Amino acid sequence: MNPNAPYDVVIVGAGVAGSLTACRLKATRPDARILILEAGNNPTTPGERAAFVDTYQISPTKSVPSPYAELPNNKEKFAPSSDGVPDFTVMNQYYDEDGKLDVFASGFQRMIGGSTWAWRGNTPRFVPNDFQLKTKYGVGVDWPFSYDELEPYYMQAENELGISGNATEWVGITPRSGDYPMPGMAPSYGDELARTALSTIKPIDGIPVKIVTTPQARNSQPYRGRSACQGNSSCIPVCPTGAKYDASIHVNKARDELGVELRTASVATRIVPPAGDGQPYTVFFRDWTTVDHAEQQLTAKHVVLALNAIETPKLWLLSGLNNSSDQVGRNLMDHHSAEMIGLFGQPVYPFRGPQSALGVDTFRDGDFRKNNGAFRMTIGNDGWGRSGSPEKTLQSFLWDDTNKKVKLLGKPLQQAVADKVTRMLRISISTEQLPNPDNRVTLSDKTDALGIPHPKIAYKLDDYSKRALAYGHSVTRRMWQHLEDTAGATRIDPVQPTLKYNGAGHLMGTMRMGDKASAVVDAWGNSHDHPGIWIVGSSVFPTGGTANPTLTVAALTLRTADALADALATTP
Ligand SMILES: Cc1cc2nc3c(=O)[nH]c(=O)nc-3n(C[C@H](O)[C@H](O)[C@H](O)COP(=O)(O)OP(=O)(O)OC[C@H]3O[C@@H](n4cnc5c(N)ncnc54)[C@H](O)[C@@H]3O)c2cc1C
Ligand code: SF4
Repeated sequence: MNPNAPYDVVIVGAGVAGSLTACRLKATRPDARILILEAGNNPTTPGERAAFVDTYQISPTKSVPSPYAELPNNKEKFAPSSDGVPDFTVMNQYYDEDGKLDVFASGFQRMIGGSTWAWRGNTPRFVPNDFQLKTKYGVGVDWPFSYDELEPYYMQAENELGISGNATEWVGITPRSGDYPMPGMAPSYGDELARTALSTIKPIDGIPVKIVTTPQARNSQPYRGRSACQGNSSCIPVCPTGAKYDASIHVNKARDELGVELRTASVATRIVPPAGDGQPYTVFFRDWTTVDHAEQQLTAKHVVLALNAIETPKLWLLSGLNNSSDQVGRNLMDHHSAEMIGLFGQPVYPFRGPQSALGVDTFRDGDFRKNNGAFRMTIGNDGWGRSGSPEKTLQSFLWDDTNKKVKLLGKPLQQAVADKVTRMLRISISTEQLPNPDNRVTLSDKTDALGIPHPKIAYKLDDYSKRALAYGHSVTRRMWQHLEDTAGATRIDPVQPTLKYNGAGHLMGTMRMGDKASAVVDAWGNSHDHPGIWIVGSSVFPTGGTANPTLTVAALTLRTADALADALATTP
């Protein structure tokens, strides 16, 4: 084969969307010549995982990016990952955000395997009405197809990622045509106490508070050569055992088993469409391991963009590609998360098992969505989660920072810690946001070490999304009241809704799917303006619902890969 001939497909990005596309395409079209072009350059071996765990353990902040901050692309600011957390000491302030607006608080990892190195691995499906928000509730937009159409791909995605779940618990929430590949994760001791205490709560606003086992990309038993979860509770940001799925699994499979080429440390800089009929696309990139970082190029009949909802529109805009719908970069969404923390009436002994195993999914749909966004809830198994680590608690007992003197020492200190840390419990909400064309990614004047513009982000929460936070708080507060009344819970914080939020890491929108007039890609992820360009990932979501996005990303990716495989059959 002529090595200078165009590739059949170049996939930009080796996260879950890119690597799954590669595996599916190559399995369907074994003769196709496929390359993944990837900005990261980290090894994906068990040894490297151990090194990340070591870095994480000695990190003072233990922030999400802490295991990965020393990777050359982050440290040297070549193709840097985003901040993701408001901790400016550990990362590089990659986003250029307008300080007058709200904060877009979610980040991503530039690594082989992408952000799944940092994710928690919760994988509920969207609920059916998420696909028809406009028709049902008069807000947002509809997706170009229904839940039923995606359902077979949800099944396949669950097998690919290896999801544990209890199908019977989901009857009435998300219809299923089959079982999960693995049984659900066993709840921890504390989960069981919380579930028992909440089993007697009456419906809130007519909605039952039903606790279900959260489906997770985490092995409840050995699965496809990976071990069962060992319960280390460090799922975010790094799983020491590999029991939590990450996309290095599909990257390795694509490269080592299926013969897909992988080119790493290579940051795509622009895509140039064909000059004439039958001509290929040209993909330009810079390799940050070279001395001069000179721009290089290769050609492809089809290009798949799998760079996530910040980087995909950035590359599109950098390339000056057509934008006839004017929707490129617009409708950026996230799920806004907030925690309510308190002490349970008896020890729950957190940190034994995944960071969460149970959730409440009954507030993810209902007539209230005409007025305010829906939300998912999780019951934490990691103490006070992001709000207060055991170490912070120890410090607060030990040292009086105002008067600069020791507070407790010895046995009294031990007793105070034993009493408090063992009873820490959190309930979190993760709320729905509507698409808003003014929430957008454009190009910044600031550039990274390769001379490539940073993304500029304009972002503001609309009232519908703020009311989702307020309603989520109100429901959670009523659940806590029940725990106070029946299970001796105390010290609930915050008592009042604050509308403060964290990002969920769920970058969505910016390259949405729909008809040509109002969307960037069609229902199969194929660009309306450039027929050889396909987009996978949550950038194509027209609305964001409440489900953590990655299972839906995986299902959509398989669907797009099938459509692209069909297109390859007719591409000369
Ligand atoms: C802290 C955290 C917790 C999360 N928890 C959950 C959860 O519990 N459940 C859930 O469903 N989701 C969760 N997510 C979201 C989940 O991680 C993402 O949805 C998912 O990883 C997105 O995959 P992707 O392949 O679309 O994009 P990414 O993972 O961002 O991958 C994009 C790839 O493109 C590469 N790339 C970027 N720019 C370029 C370029 N110019 N040239 C070449 N390559 C490039 C990157 O290096 C990367 O490999 C979480 C995210 C975070 C950060
Ligand atoms: S609890 Fe531990 S072993 Fe299990 S998925 Fe989380 S980090 Fe991995």
